[in-house]
Amino acid sequence: MTASVGAVTGWRLLTATQHYAPGRGFHTWLSGPVDHLETLYLVLDGGEGVTGLGELRTNIAYLHGHDAAAVTAAASAAVGRLPWQDGPAAALAAFDRDCPAAGIHLPVRMLVEMAVRDLQARRAGRSVAALFDGPAGAVSGETNQSLAWTEDRAALLVAAERFVARGFCRLKVRLGPAGVAEDRARLLALRDRFGEAVELAADINGAWAPADVDRGLAALAEAAPAYVEQPCPADDWVTLARLADGAPVPVMLDETVSHPAAIDRLSALGWRGGVHLKLVKLGGLDRLIAAGRRGRAAGMTVMVGQMNEGAVATAAALAAAAALAPDHAELYGADGLADDPGTGIVYGAGRVGVTGAAGLGVTLDPTRCRPVAAPEPKPAEVVHVG
Ligand SMILES: [Mg+2]
Repeated sequence: MTASVGAVTGWRLLTATQHYAPGRGFHTWLSGPVDHLETLYLVLDGGEGVTGLGELRTNIAYLHGHDAAAVTAAASAAVGRLPWQDGPAAALAAFDRDCPAAGIHLPVRMLVEMAVRDLQARRAGRSVAALFDGPAGAVSGETNQSLAWTEDRAALLVAAERFVARGFCRLKVRLGPAGVAEDRARLLALRDRFGEAVELAADINGAWAPADVDRGLAALAEAAPAYVEQPCPADDWVTLARLADGAPVPVMLDETVSHPAAIDRLSALGWRGGVHLKLVKLGGLDRLIAAGRRGRAAGMTVMVGQMNEGAVATAAALAAAAALAPDHAELYGADGLADDPGTGIVYGAGRVGVTGAAGLGVTLDPTRCRPVAAPEPKPAEVVHVG
């Protein structure tokens, strides 16, 4: 990667609340119903009109256990200490030297690294993906769409019809809360409706009890899903060891892969199934791409995904996917947002793309955000009168 030079002349942390259009909120067994996103933005000023953007969704305590206020406070403290005057690469190196590589610092590092890569790439006139040997120019790629949990099976089919009508032919359905029999019925209903024209997958989000995992996977196998995601709790390594020896359908792990070291633990287990990689879990583009390459070398199937997030974070996940060329991509996060201050993401025909060729390829309207933190102003020059 080309080293970046030049100071970061200013930075701001901003926040915004984003809402999905009616009927587009999401609901999984793990998250419960979610109708809005709380988002933290880092805006780096590189001078000469060049900026770097990072986006971190903060209301995801169900993922990592830290609430929005704690993540915001940790980000404000960490970003305020970094030596931005030495340039973006030095600031990121200082973060890695001074902050623990775990816990609340993983999502904060992701925010910092995203903004650093965007600034570095924009200064170089390249895409962020190109920094990691991915394609240059405005990036696009395939994505699935997700069918949220709903009590109403008929509503599930209506939501699926809408996605397919827009050209999305890879659907992942959220299952688990109602048990294996209902899960089987729902997946079979989708298969009956769409036949082989649509790739189906299921995400259990760890809802099944360990005793139900084997019969649950066998039940879903009837609908020939591309994979079943997280059929057991994240840290159920007894069940994971059994699944590593074989399963009736391909198994994808998401919540289990909550840290870069999980890839190595799975590799040691002999895992040859899927691993679902997300920037916020792994701490940044560089770490996600490295984890993906390690997993692939160990024989794993690689998926790049994201949380439900806005345009800037989605563009970063797309850049990671473009560089890694994963087996599966889940980049629907910004689709359906009604008030995203980030712009430049386009969905359609089974794909997502960005409109800009440099950096992440997206922009942010700061007037639609609220201030959180900025550098302390320099003390005024003291004038001695005497
Ligand atoms: Mg998942």
